Amino acid sequence: MKERISKWLGTDKHSPYVKDFFYNANMRASIYMSIIVITLELWMIARMIRTVIEENLGNIIERIIENYFSNYFILLACGLLTLGYAVNAVFSKQWVKWLTAPVVVLCISVIVFEIRMLSKFSERDKTASDLVNYLILLTSAGAMIFFAVLLFRGAGGRKWPSMAVTYIFSFVGINFGIIMSVHSFSKGDQILTFLTMELFVVCLLIWRPWMGFLVLTGSYLVFYYRISGIVDISTVPRVGGIIDLNKAAIGLGDGVKINGFTMWLSTLVFCIANYKRTLSQAEKDEDLVQINEQLREISIHDELTGIHNMVYFRTEAEKMLGYVTTDRENSVFLFMDIENFKSYNEKYGFLKGNELLISMAGFTEEIFAGSLVSRFSDDHFVVFTHRNGCEEKVARLSEKIHDIQHEVHLELKCGAYKPEPDDNDVSLACDRARFACNSIKKRYHQDLRFYDKKLEEQFRLKQYIVNNIDTAIENDDIKVFYQPIVDTSDGCICGLEALARWKDPKYGLLPPGMFIETLEEYRQIHKLDQTVIRIVCRDLKDAFDNGQPAVPASINFSRLDFELYDVPAFLDECVREYGVPKEYLDVEITESALTENSGLLEKTMDVLRGSGYKIWLDDFGSGYSSLNVLKDYQFDVLKIDMKFLAGFGSNEKAAPILINIVDLTKQLDMISLTEGVETKEQYEFLGKIGCNRAQGYLFSKPCPKDELSEKIVSGQLNVTKRYCRGDAAER
Ligand code: C2E
Ligand code: CA
Ligand code: CA
Repeated sequence: MKERISKWLGTDKHSPYVKDFFYNANMRASIYMSIIVITLELWMIARMIRTVIEENLGNIIERIIENYFSNYFILLACGLLTLGYAVNAVFSKQWVKWLTAPVVVLCISVIVFEIRMLSKFSERDKTASDLVNYLILLTSAGAMIFFAVLLFRGAGGRKWPSMAVTYIFSFVGINFGIIMSVHSFSKGDQILTFLTMELFVVCLLIWRPWMGFLVLTGSYLVFYYRISGIVDISTVPRVGGIIDLNKAAIGLGDGVKINGFTMWLSTLVFCIANYKRTLSQAEKDEDLVQINEQLREISIHDELTGIHNMVYFRTEAEKMLGYVTTDRENSVFLFMDIENFKSYNEKYGFLKGNELLISMAGFTEEIFAGSLVSRFSDDHFVVFTHRNGCEEKVARLSEKIHDIQHEVHLELKCGAYKPEPDDNDVSLACDRARFACNSIKKRYHQDLRFYDKKLEEQFRLKQYIVNNIDTAIENDDIKVFYQPIVDTSDGCICGLEALARWKDPKYGLLPPGMFIETLEEYRQIHKLDQTVIRIVCRDLKDAFDNGQPAVPASINFSRLDFELYDVPAFLDECVREYGVPKEYLDVEITESALTENSGLLEKTMDVLRGSGYKIWLDDFGSGYSSLNVLKDYQFDVLKIDMKFLAGFGSNEKAAPILINIVDLTKQLDMISLTEGVETKEQYEFLGKIGCNRAQGYLFSKPCPKDELSEKIVSGQLNVTKRYCRGDAAER
């Protein structure tokens, strides 16, 4: 209830936005009001001068002073001053300060006039009200000179002097209205000046209701008091105890046609309605502004870390690159990545991972204070900063990351790219910095790398790969090389691994190491893998058709394949189209593909096994969670990573580990296969420990189909009997 009353009276607190809204509304109203007042006053002054001259009333100056000129001057000055402040507040125009000159001249004239009047005060037949009026004029003139000087010195845009001037204007205006109308009233004329001033002040400007009430009631009471000094108020007719100006005036000549009470009431109602309307408009606007602000915040900030996002980074960096004042020579884009963040996430959970990212964002902003810092994605951050001192800052950041790591070894990796004189593409700059960053992954001694000529070449190749994969497939530039897999029990070939090659007209024969990762990064890998599957099926069909040895082929799949297309459906379609039995195609999935436990992959693997394909686990032992993978999924063949054999002979632990892994495969009912067999000793060792299959350069490097056939025909390689004659019956 208290709140409602306070709201109704306008004594409640306004938000800064609403206050500003009222201020602006008042300043705009002041512009109209002051222009009307200035025009009216100039016109009135001209008219009075004409009357004085026409009537030739003796000493002109004397007459001017007596003819209320001070009142016109002060109002004119006040109008000019208000105009100055209001225009400055709304349009921030500097020329308004020259309005100071006429204001000061007018105010000084008023002071001179009034001092003269005061000195002759006793000589004339003047009332106490006149004395009060002289004093009001003198003080207003003084105050206005003060504010005029402030305006000249540039205070126009500030709120308090502007508001003070509006209050002075209201006071001077209403006082003017009272004086003029009391004068008119005494001659039996209308009191329109008072009414006009009330309307200007109370209805054009917006007041809180209680203030409007005070201003209105106060001015009406003063007016009432002043006219009551002129007419014998007891003889004046009243309506309900309140003076009836309408009838009162009749006795004095031409009547004033307005009923005072109704006038007061209607002005007050108008004043309150005006306030309410403006308030609701202001509150609506404030809501909109807030929503807009929130939307803006969301659109340029990263939700998790609270620092800016890439939308902001791109626009701001682009702007900065566009400035002539930007010292490009001394600017650099940094791309940062926390190596092993994935393992940290896995080990401590998402919440801890998020905390780490938030800390990283905080450190980066702190160390690169004053630079453009944003989160790129995941655990990647970008910075646009000064070249000088960036090594030292990266080192500091790297130290901070080391400080907060627990058992997972976190490493900060940073790539830097210095923009060339005319390259303004922020995304490309970030790509290059990222490329430099990726080039030092897994190099434990290095945390910063600048993008250089060598990287530029690699970067171009990467772009070439992304841009040309479709053409390469169309032009049959994608080839499949086969590497034999040997059965350790008889040394014969029991399988072939299909390995992709890109025979490029410009770069020559590219090994998969040069394009697989890029195709994965750009989610194009499925194009390559589908091509490889088709080629393998076609080669098998040819072998069957020509009665040549047809050996099952294992095909490498990327984790993304399972996201990008329906692998079982595609395989089924191919085997049907080429007439290849399903057991001739094996699916190799690397251990690293399985560390992110995805339900989709698990389901797809079940479907594949269910429909007759064998699933091989590739690169076993290369990652952190090899045993988890064995626990969670089921495989037919386990391919033991090359690194175990690489250590064979030099590392004593290699042999016992291999023995244990092979034992494990037996317990889990899997076939064991060791990759990277390069020497006879290795091969013999594998046979001794019961490893079922072997693959490596000792038997053959990956080679084209025809080369492999020659090796078989020449007897250099033997094929397991079962696969020697691919005949139609087999199918
Ligand atoms: P991977 O599946 O582990 O393939 C074995 C890699 O080891 C092959 O390299 C092969 O040439 C090499 N290698 C075989 N025996 C030996 C040896 O005795 N000693 C040494 N040092 N290396 C040996 P390659 O052909 O360069 O393939 C590299 C990787 O690229 C493959 O590793 C596989 O992950 C990927 N890849 C190859 N073809 C494809 C494909 O068609 N699709 C997908 N998604 N990935 C593929
Ligand atoms: Ca493989
Ligand atoms: Ca492998």
